[in-house]
Amino acid sequence: MLVVMKSTATSEMVEAVVKAVSEMGLKAHPIPGANRTAIGITGNKAQVNDTALRALVGVEDLVHVTAPYKLVGRDFHPQDSVVDVDGVTIGGKEVVLMGGPCSVEPLEVTLEIARAVKKAGGKVFRGGAFKPRTSPYSFQGLGEDGLKILAQVRQETGLKIITEAIDPENLRLVAKYTDIIQIGARNMQNFSLLKAAGKSGKTVMIKRGMSSTVDELLMAAEYVMAEGNNRVILCERGVRTFAAHTRNTLDLSAIPYVKARSHLPIVADPSHGTGVREMVAALSRASVAVGADGLIIETHTSPDKALSDAFQTVTIGTFETIAKETEDIAQILGRSF
Ligand code: PEP
Ligand code: MN
Repeated sequence: MLVVMKSTATSEMVEAVVKAVSEMGLKAHPIPGANRTAIGITGNKAQVNDTALRALVGVEDLVHVTAPYKLVGRDFHPQDSVVDVDGVTIGGKEVVLMGGPCSVEPLEVTLEIARAVKKAGGKVFRGGAFKPRTSPYSFQGLGEDGLKILAQVRQETGLKIITEAIDPENLRLVAKYTDIIQIGARNMQNFSLLKAAGKSGKTVMIKRGMSSTVDELLMAAEYVMAEGNNRVILCERGVRTFAAHTRNTLDLSAIPYVKARSHLPIVADPSHGTGVREMVAALSRASVAVGADGLIIETHTSPDKALSDAFQTVTIGTFETIAKETEDIAQILGRSF
């Protein structure tokens, strides 16, 4: 349910509605707009009894929202959300490039990659310190030492950091070091992790599960937002299909689908979306062309030596090409880089 206030409604009138909603045992989310305020209501199991609300002073209209997601939907928030990560804005006019290795590498290698990412125009540095690997015998990441390396990258280069949290307890540690918490594809429906990410108040990027629909991705974001955290970015990273020529099928249509339904920014990951180094630049171009707000690219100074996902990791040269092509396409679309 959405309570639309009159354009002449005062802040006291808005507060009175918020109070009435809380007294009904529900959660009110005031959404200030250019001309009027709307108040989203969540927490109802059935349709809200609207007679009491309709009678309050300053209320113009009540809109029943039938979509299973509310806070992430455009009904509650028609304009695009722009997530500001300490000066790097995601979801606005700018297309943001994120780059770095799959797993955090030893300090010197990581710093070398980070310097190159920055030089090419990257704004965010990626690298997993805790890796959710399919096999328990595969490299699991450098752990807290990896987080410390990422903190050094930020200190030296000024790049923002994105790194994955794999469970609620681990999230509290990761949140101390990172600018953006990544929720990986395998954890997209780990609801206790999503709630912990919501409570952290940090920027969260949620990757689409490899067998999840786009609506399920939006519901995962709803979990984070329902905790009062609006700082959410979505990520299309490909899904499993019968196609055997790639690791996953990057679902480009997810991007305009999300844009039509949600105000949240969406980033594309053509690295996991293809699993093939040679295809990453082409799918990066395509992602920006269909409206992605950013790209996250696995990049390494010596890709073959990467601690994980070497086969899909691009060289610095390819990363620079992707940056240049992103800039060109962004310009055609009236965006910047
Ligand atoms: C990653 O970003 O390295 C990663 C593990 O991605 P995903 O969760 O999309 O597989
Ligand atoms: Mn990876």
